[in-house]
Amino acid sequence: MLRMHSLETIVSWAKRKWFVYPWSDIYGWLANAWDYGPYGIQLKKNIQDLRWKTFVQQKPDMVGLDAQILMHPKVWETSGHVDNFDDPLIDDKNTGERFRADKIIEDQIELMRKWNNEALSDDDIIKTLQEKYWVTNLIPESWSFEKMHDFIVKEIPNNPNSKKSKPADRTEVRKFQMMFYTYQGVVHDDADAKIWMRPETAQGIFVNFRNILDTTRMRVPFGIAQIGKAFRNEITPGNFLYRTREFEQMEIEYFVSNKKDEAMKAFEDRKVASKDRWENKLKLSADKIRFREHESDELSHYSDGTFDVEFEYPRGWGELQGIAYRTDFDLKNHQEASGKNMQYNDPFTGERYIPHVIEPSFGLSRTTLAVMLDAYDEEEYTNGKGEKETRVVARFPFAIAPVKVAIFPLIKKDENHVRISHEIYAQLSGSLMVEYDDGGAIGKRYRRQDEIGTPYCITVDNASTESGTVTVRNRDTMEQETIKIDELLEFFAKIS
Ligand code: ATP
Repeated sequence: MLRMHSLETIVSWAKRKWFVYPWSDIYGWLANAWDYGPYGIQLKKNIQDLRWKTFVQQKPDMVGLDAQILMHPKVWETSGHVDNFDDPLIDDKNTGERFRADKIIEDQIELMRKWNNEALSDDDIIKTLQEKYWVTNLIPESWSFEKMHDFIVKEIPNNPNSKKSKPADRTEVRKFQMMFYTYQGVVHDDADAKIWMRPETAQGIFVNFRNILDTTRMRVPFGIAQIGKAFRNEITPGNFLYRTREFEQMEIEYFVSNKKDEAMKAFEDRKVASKDRWENKLKLSADKIRFREHESDELSHYSDGTFDVEFEYPRGWGELQGIAYRTDFDLKNHQEASGKNMQYNDPFTGERYIPHVIEPSFGLSRTTLAVMLDAYDEEEYTNGKGEKETRVVARFPFAIAPVKVAIFPLIKKDENHVRISHEIYAQLSGSLMVEYDDGGAIGKRYRRQDEIGTPYCITVDNASTESGTVTVRNRDTMEQETIKIDELLEFFAKIS
């Protein structure tokens, strides 16, 4: 039975099993930054490839793009990021600690719920808060800075996670610009040399809209997908890969008609398709994902509808993906600022208009974390001697498991076992990620592969020399079957 394990368990397993290492470890770890190890990068790459296959390769109405991280500074002025891409910051003057105001309020509301044994409904909590703070929803992000401040001063007198009993001395809530910048060229004190590091990949797509329209045969409705790094100077990064300052996103801008009903239909279709993908392609446990429509006072000013896919992380529900109906906000602004025509000329109706946009956007790093949390299991089973044992098993779906098949020569010193194992390695590695392992007893090798989530292990023994067969063991059922070496490729082709 799968259950949610603590984040500490996952962090320690991820390091021990070569998935994720603390950043620049040898110089002292910078808290909340991580590097992907050999299995981690393979897992992330497999998730990315699966996404690319579903969203680009298998979709005639989609194309891919890879725009630069450092874009023209005007892009970020036009998109509104220079003026508005900020988080509400509040400090404690006593300790110098800094907090993202809306997030500590969200956590406090969750605590209120827990203190009341989950008995309070959202409406009950809103009623209490309305009387005290004049707020009308449980989305602190949408509250004024004054209301956030008032709430924090009264409800969170001590810093979250602080063991100190001394109450905090709060500053006002203020804006904190989240974009990183660097300089291009040799003269750093020239304001014109300042250049932003992209906080999202989406704008790279909007500025290439005209290029794609003019040089390809794509016609509305069509979409452009991009996967790449994004940078945000988060006030409080944390929860392992959940919130980091450097991370990867996959974003799609899907350009549709400017007619509201047609655009809304495309938005609804995306929502349905998205549910199906999280549950049936990535195979996340259905009870750990939920789909949430944004309230009207939660919507960004440019959005006519937003839908979040949330995963239940150990600390609670958190966003995995957002799907936003962004109207023609971005293309219209880029048209005005650049003077370049962003209109689409419909070849069938002759209409000219700026297309509306549906934007599915998800975090590749956050998805990798969700997949690891969902896959990790500690299972009690009865071994061959009838004794109870516990094994760690990462139940990654075959498509994203970092290693698909491990190959073991039963006896390390048996020339035939070793030779045939290498032959099978050469045969399978053309199409699958395989691993050769000759270290220790077979049981130990199985445990090692279970821990990294390898779905199948092949053991080469005397039967392999005598009758050309191997034993194939299934990670989840632990059952073994005998398969002809000549049929291995076909056996795994069917599974993948
Ligand atoms: P949050 O409210 O958690 O800060 P957001 O609404 O700002 O997220 P978006 O701007 O919609 O996030 O970004 C799209 C996706 O990028 C998110 O759904 C999430 O998966 C991912 N993402 C955003 N910020 C981070 C981060 N700091 N670290 C890792 N992934 C992130």
